[in-house]
Amino acid sequence: MFVGHYSVAFAAKTERNKIPLWVLFIAVQFLDYIWATLVLLGIEKLRVIKGFTAGSMLDSYFHPYSHSLIAALAWSVIAALIYKSVCSRHGCLYRRSAALIIGVAVFSHWLLDFIAHPRDLAIYDNTWKVGFGLWRYRDPEFALEIALLAGGIVLYLTRNVMPAIRKVAVIAFGIALLIVQIGDTYVPRTPLTDKATAMGVWIFYTLFVVVAFIVEKIGSRSQSSAS
Ligand SMILES: [Zn+2]
Repeated sequence: MFVGHYSVAFAAKTERNKIPLWVLFIAVQFLDYIWATLVLLGIEKLRVIKGFTAGSMLDSYFHPYSHSLIAALAWSVIAALIYKSVCSRHGCLYRRSAALIIGVAVFSHWLLDFIAHPRDLAIYDNTWKVGFGLWRYRDPEFALEIALLAGGIVLYLTRNVMPAIRKVAVIAFGIALLIVQIGDTYVPRTPLTDKATAMGVWIFYTLFVVVAFIVEKIGSRSQSSAS
């Protein structure tokens, strides 16, 4: 699962919880940030094999610390606690439900990976591997990613008050993510090394976080002067 993860970020943001979209963008990919970091450190293992599955070249044969079920639950709790402590220290509009939403957003990554990954997600440590394996079916997997993303963006647009220009920016962002997913799923390319792949994850995911930050700033001055 790739851009489909961001559906949860878009869907989770409401006027009530006031969690910045960029924070949710980190939350839904928190497990992959840990994974990419551990791959770069040589602790978790990855093979990049052309045609490994129809929809992905990633053979994540050892990633117990980022992607086992138990680890995912633990990271979800840790992320919720980090959000809670940072928020209470910086006096942002903290609501108890916001930390819970962050935890659920982090855990959603594992659930969506479970749909896509081919039996490489351990329940604990590196054993009892599960995964529905939708990546073996390229078109349905792609369709699911895009359907999720579109649904998340529709929820975001309907549940949050924003100026028209930001709505346009959000839709443009959605289209950009769609193009990225088309490239990832359908454009043939030579496999990168494991470390280069992990580096790419860091760069692309962080780029999306920055865009999410900018998007929520668009038109904010006209919005505050209007209210
Ligand atoms: Zn993942």
